Amino acid sequence: MTSEQDLREDLATCTRIFAMQGMIGVFGHVSVYQPERRTVLITPGMGSNKGSLQAKDMVATDLDGKPHRGTEGPPVEWPIHTALHRARSDALAVAHLHTPYATLFSIAKRKFKPVTLQGAIFSDGVPLYPQAQLITNPDRGKALLKSIGDKRAVLLRGHGIVVVGQTLQEVLFSSLVLEDDAKKTLQAATLGAVGTISPEECKTFGAEIALERRAQRAWNYFCSLEARWDKQASTGRSALFP
Ligand SMILES: [Zn+2]
Repeated sequence: MTSEQDLREDLATCTRIFAMQGMIGVFGHVSVYQPERRTVLITPGMGSNKGSLQAKDMVATDLDGKPHRGTEGPPVEWPIHTALHRARSDALAVAHLHTPYATLFSIAKRKFKPVTLQGAIFSDGVPLYPQAQLITNPDRGKALLKSIGDKRAVLLRGHGIVVVGQTLQEVLFSSLVLEDDAKKTLQAATLGAVGTISPEECKTFGAEIALERRAQRAWNYFCSLEARWDKQASTGRSALFP
């Protein structure tokens, strides 16, 4: 079993990468759950500097959002994370982000469809949580579960996105892909009608195959970039492979 310290390090790294990519800032949080320890590790709430978080800054709670120690609680939207961690064994890592591009699909009356081969991991669609509200209590967490079903991500209307994965590596990769596809959709739309990757094409590409390997490679790549990051203000870039 991965040690809590290693998970804290990975969670801090994942969050700094999101900050470097302009995908998390004042708002947004990321969590990882270890069922064996019944422990949720989550990034601190609003206003913490996501670009310089360290392992010691992570908040440890139970599945009811109660901190294990200390007085600092989790972010107010902790039920997003605990609802998913509790209900889905494939949602051991959860990112809630207000990314610049994917969030547009929670505003525009247009369904998200993959436009690149990497985007094929979202061939099942990205449903919408229809209430424009923060998810600050367990009932809203349950409603979120209904909206996301067994999908990899959900859009929160007028708010942001939630992406789940088996690992932090997978959640980072999937979030980058979703944001990248959303950005490309917007950019391509300025050129004319946007073509999408059909469910059959997604299937043929086999986006789920070797997802773990691709996620790990992307993780290694972004870790090496983050290690050299000069912490300058975000440019909002979201390109997966710039
Ligand atoms: Zn939010």
